[in-house]
Amino acid sequence: MVCAAPSEVIFTSGATEANNLALLGVPGLLEPNDSTRSNIVVSAIEHKSVLAAAAELGRRGWEIRTAPVNRDGIIDIDVFASMVDEKTLLASVMAANNEIGTIQPLSDVISICRDTGAMIHVDAAQAVGKIPISLADVDFASLSSHKMYGPVGVGALFVSSAAPVRPRPLFFGGGQEGGLRPGTLPVPLIVGFGAAAASRTPVMDEDALKSEKLRKHFLENLERRQVRFSLNGHKTERLPGSINIRIPDVNAVELIMRLGDRVLIADGSACSSGNIEPSHVLIAIGLNTKEASSSVRMFISRFNTTEDMEVAAERIALATGVIHQ
Ligand code: PLP
Repeated sequence: MVCAAPSEVIFTSGATEANNLALLGVPGLLEPNDSTRSNIVVSAIEHKSVLAAAAELGRRGWEIRTAPVNRDGIIDIDVFASMVDEKTLLASVMAANNEIGTIQPLSDVISICRDTGAMIHVDAAQAVGKIPISLADVDFASLSSHKMYGPVGVGALFVSSAAPVRPRPLFFGGGQEGGLRPGTLPVPLIVGFGAAAASRTPVMDEDALKSEKLRKHFLENLERRQVRFSLNGHKTERLPGSINIRIPDVNAVELIMRLGDRVLIADGSACSSGNIEPSHVLIAIGLNTKEASSSVRMFISRFNTTEDMEVAAERIALATGVIHQ
C-alpha cells in the first residue's frame, strides 16, 4: 500500500487528471531542447490518459518511446531496459492493466529507471486496494477512488518527497494542494476516498480469494456449457477477479446487446472520435482486429455471488449459441 505523508498526496478529480499532471507537469519544467534529457518512455498498454498525454508531449518536441508487451500483456523488460537511457526524463508504467488485468514487474521497472536516473511514474489506479503494492521507490503514482469502491470524481497523484522535482501545475489559481492543483477541494469526496482506502486493507486478501474463486467458477461454467473461449492476458499475474476472454466467431458488441442489463460486460473496442477502434491493449498483445472484436471483459466485484457467475455463464452460452447460428 502507499505510505505517504499528507504533503505527498495531491488530490485530483481522478486518475485521468493525476496521469496528466504527472506526464505533462514533470516535463513541463523543461523544454526537450534545453535539457540533457529528451525522451519519455511509456508502455504500449497504458490507459489512454497516459498515452494521449504522451502524444501531446510528442507534439511539443519530446521523443516518445513506446515499450512493447509480450503476448501475455507483461512488459518486455529487456526491450524496456534498452529504451530507458541517460536521456530519459520520465518512464510511465502501470501497476496493473484495466482491460486484461495483468500485473507488471514494477521492481524491475523501477531499478532500470534508477540505474539511468530516469524518474518513474506508476498508474496504480487498478492495483491499489486490490493487490498489495509498494510505491516506496516510485516518484509519482496515480490513484482513483472509484476503483477501490470509493466515490467517483476524486483521485490523487502521489508525489514522493524524494522525487527529484515536483510537477508544474496544469491549472492556475489559488494555493490549494501546494499550488499544484488549485481549486476548492471536494471535501465529502475526499473523505469518502479516505474511508474507502482505509476499508480496503483489512479485506483485500479475503476479497482477492473470493473473486478468484468466482472467476474460476465462471470459467468452468462456460466450459461446461461448451462455450469455446481463450483467455487474454496472463494466467496468474493478473488482478483477482479480472476476466478478458475471446470467443471466436462472436461479435462482442452483438453479444453485449443480447445479454441486456443482467450481465455487465464490456467489449474489446473503444469509441474514439466517433469511430469504433479495436482496443490498443488487445492489439499490443498481438490480437488482430477480428480477434479483438470477439473479446469481452468483465470484473468480478466484492458484491458478486456464485449465482451471478452461473447466470452470467448461462446467458453468455445462450447468447453465443444464437449468434453462432
Ligand atoms: N488509469 C487506469 C489504469 C484506469 O483503469 C482508469 C479508469 O478506468 C484511469 C486511469 C482513469 O481513472 P479516472 O476514471 O479516475 O479518471
